[in-house]
Amino acid sequence: MQKHNFNAGPCVLPKQAIEAAIEAIRDFDNTGIGILEISHRTPGWERVMAEVEQLWRELLNIPDNYAVFFLGGGASTQFFEVPANLLKTKAAYLQTGVWAKKAAKEAKYYGEVEIVASSEDKTYSYIPKGYTIPTDADYFHITTNNTIYGTEIHEDIDSPITLVADMSSDIMSRPVDVTKYGMIYGGAQKNVGPAGVTFVIVRKDLIGSSERKLQTMVDYATHFPEEQRNHSMFNTPPVFPIFVMYQTLKWVKELGGVEAMYKRNVEKAELLYNEIDRNSMFVGTAAKEDRSLMNVCFVMAEGKEQYEAEFMEFAKSKGMVGIKGHRSVGGFRASIYNACPKESVEALVACMQEFENLHK
Ligand SMILES: *Cc1c(COP(=O)(O)O)cnc(C)c1O
Repeated sequence: MQKHNFNAGPCVLPKQAIEAAIEAIRDFDNTGIGILEISHRTPGWERVMAEVEQLWRELLNIPDNYAVFFLGGGASTQFFEVPANLLKTKAAYLQTGVWAKKAAKEAKYYGEVEIVASSEDKTYSYIPKGYTIPTDADYFHITTNNTIYGTEIHEDIDSPITLVADMSSDIMSRPVDVTKYGMIYGGAQKNVGPAGVTFVIVRKDLIGSSERKLQTMVDYATHFPEEQRNHSMFNTPPVFPIFVMYQTLKWVKELGGVEAMYKRNVEKAELLYNEIDRNSMFVGTAAKEDRSLMNVCFVMAEGKEQYEAEFMEFAKSKGMVGIKGHRSVGGFRASIYNACPKESVEALVACMQEFENLHK
């Protein structure tokens, strides 16, 4: 049976990226040696590194005054590397979920943290609005897409201070104005690749701005030496995840870039949200204006709660994979990242309709 992968992360990747990865394991760049077995100092790999940085710059319109590099450690490591590199005295955080909360917790090791607003009161089902960004903080940290709760900040915020964004789960899903951000980071495993590589985009003048003495690996300057051609190569980079990310970004480019991704994503999300709103068995959990294009959260409607386990089984029998909601929200979550085909969303919608008909 055909499977429809709605996993929240790691998650579905473009087929052609998987095929290219399989081939590269056998033979990388016509060297007769597999990618898992080569030195990261070979010219073929250095070319991939240069091209993947170039693809990021091209797809997101990243200006030259920004550094772009790739690390290990996941977004969670950036939770402390961001304040280590950027926080002098105080940082401001928007608390839109547990990832945002975890990020703020790490910043407290480096200075004062102000939680500007939080939506914890309603299980993070909305994005707080009408808050004031303190101008005496070194930066304002946001999480643009809240993977667990299915909420998303749809616009690039105008911030009077340096804006830092965890874009782990919506990077490359829509155009962003990079110049509005001081820094953008995230784990690759939700929209741009497999687990094991973290992307960092940071305005060059911010590197070293905390004036703190840093361990070599924590210091962003280490990973983007101006004088060197090879970035992200201070130590052995996560070669294979970077290669799959490279193939994934080539796919994004071939399909027309982030504008085209955005169009596809809006279509897919509308299909699913329309069905949730129409179907008498289900109800969405996120505030409508803040609904994520990437993670669609829904639960059984009032009075239909007893059907939850049955729908899970039914959906599974139709090939749906990974639709169980996070334990803090319950119900269901369909993650419909860039590489999730529209056919999968259509199959889920059909499955929901069929389930409703069975209980009429
Ligand atoms: C998954 C996720 C993280 C954690 O990423 P890791 O790479 O596993 O550390 C952080 N922030 C957001 C928004 C996420 O979705």
